[in-house]
Amino acid sequence: MAGGDFLKELQAVLGPERLLTGTEDRWCYAFDAAAAQPKHLPLAVALPRSTEEVAGIMKLATAYRVPVYPRGSGTNLSGGVIPREDGLVISFVEMNNILELDIENLTATVQPGVVIQELNDAVAPYGLIYPPDPGSVATATMGGSVAESSGGLRGLKYGVTKDYVMGLEVVLADGTVFHCGGKTVKNVSGYDLVKLFCGSEGTLGIMTAITVRLTPAPEARRSMLAVFDRLEGAARTITGIIANKVIPATMEIMDNVTIRTVEAYCHAGLPVEAAAVLLLEVDGIPAVVEKEAAIVERVCRENGGQVRVARDDAERENLWTARRAALPACARLRPTTVLEDATVPRSKIPEMLLALERIARKYNVSIATYGHAGDGNLHPTITCDERDQEEMERVHRAVDEIFHTAIALGGTLSGEHGIGLAKQKYMELEFGASGVAVMQRLKQALDPLGILNPGKLVGPLPVKE
Ligand SMILES: Cc1cc2nc3c(=O)[nH]c(=O)nc-3n(C[C@H](O)[C@H](O)[C@H](O)COP(=O)(O)OP(=O)(O)OC[C@H]3O[C@@H](n4cnc5c(N)ncnc54)[C@H](O)[C@@H]3O)c2cc1C
Repeated sequence: MAGGDFLKELQAVLGPERLLTGTEDRWCYAFDAAAAQPKHLPLAVALPRSTEEVAGIMKLATAYRVPVYPRGSGTNLSGGVIPREDGLVISFVEMNNILELDIENLTATVQPGVVIQELNDAVAPYGLIYPPDPGSVATATMGGSVAESSGGLRGLKYGVTKDYVMGLEVVLADGTVFHCGGKTVKNVSGYDLVKLFCGSEGTLGIMTAITVRLTPAPEARRSMLAVFDRLEGAARTITGIIANKVIPATMEIMDNVTIRTVEAYCHAGLPVEAAAVLLLEVDGIPAVVEKEAAIVERVCRENGGQVRVARDDAERENLWTARRAALPACARLRPTTVLEDATVPRSKIPEMLLALERIARKYNVSIATYGHAGDGNLHPTITCDERDQEEMERVHRAVDEIFHTAIALGGTLSGEHGIGLAKQKYMELEFGASGVAVMQRLKQALDPLGILNPGKLVGPLPVKE
């Protein structure tokens, strides 16, 4: 690869100020939020401002066979944007415009660098919301979250990112620009390419414009904290509420390790002696909220829970701040935070919770468990020190067993964080060799040289000369 010539030609497209080549600048792009993953300085970082510039970059990358790593805010938790030394990072910080709010069609069209919260702030005056809300909503970008098909606290009732993406503009590996989907509520023309790109983790194409569906903000909502002295009581409540035909907007769990850690971090008034808490919210029109809240409270009590209802917005915000603090709070405990994303059918949550306790004891590791219990998406978080080789071997064995257990229970490797580098070795466990081969053939069809985010999701296909 002729790095010098490639960079010279790239500079002609972007100008020197939007092509970062200094060592300090490049270090900022050598890693992401995933723990215990390799770090590599990229060759350079490109900051395009338009689709045409992205297409120009990809034409050059194809000509010079340079691996390209699309990057939003780098908050993904699966090693999804970690570059190789000879690769170019494309950052979308300069492509951060909301292109259109279409209130008649209830859609928004954005560039990939728009931060999710910025979109929500822009649609709030119209009484609308964009529901996907990962805990990183204040920093994560629309491009990154579509590429991961991120979930969040409202996933149980509102679904994940792919449920909201209606149309895309995509730049392919060779610089071809194409569009799929649009603003129509119904669209069954051809293959569903929009869904193909959602969750494709930057391995199939680069999204340069995204059209998403908006929904009316709920008129009313009620948030509750249910406190349990037995983990099983909390687990039974999760399935019990759904069996009673209530789908809360949010049903989050925190185990005792998490409760203590979060309380020490943000003093939210959580009950540190409890075995587990559930944080619940129902929303909708006021009469329905009233009725559903009563059912939720009843089911909690039947399973040994004590319920506190948030009396006002401040108390509600306090609850959700506590939940959002779970990851940063755990990250204070030890130098390394290995956060997993194993997901099981909701009915298997009790078994998965017990298995996590057993795995923690077996490998003598500390696991804090919290997550989106209502959709079976737990986040067992192991705090450790990646400099301690012996400890990390136990951590890796514990993680292996977590994924084997989730798959054996009919679950999946990832509910929302994606595969990236971190979980790529488990792909055959879920899809079998033939399933992985189908994905590799799709990758080869759209990116025959293997230059788009190589090594992620479908494994290390070589960059072709
Ligand atoms: C504190 C914290 C809380 C979190 N909570 C949640 C949560 O509740 N739910 C959840 O799902 N995730 C959560 N995450 C993970 C993370 O925030 C999400 O995966 C997020 O959507 C990533 O967005 P990003 O802009 O940081 O993308 P990045 O990390 O920069 O990139 C993610 C992937 O998208 C690709 N990509 C980026 N832009 C493009 C583009 N324009 N075209 C094609 N591919 C592109 C990258 O190559 C990479 O594969 C959390 C992370 C943190 C640190």
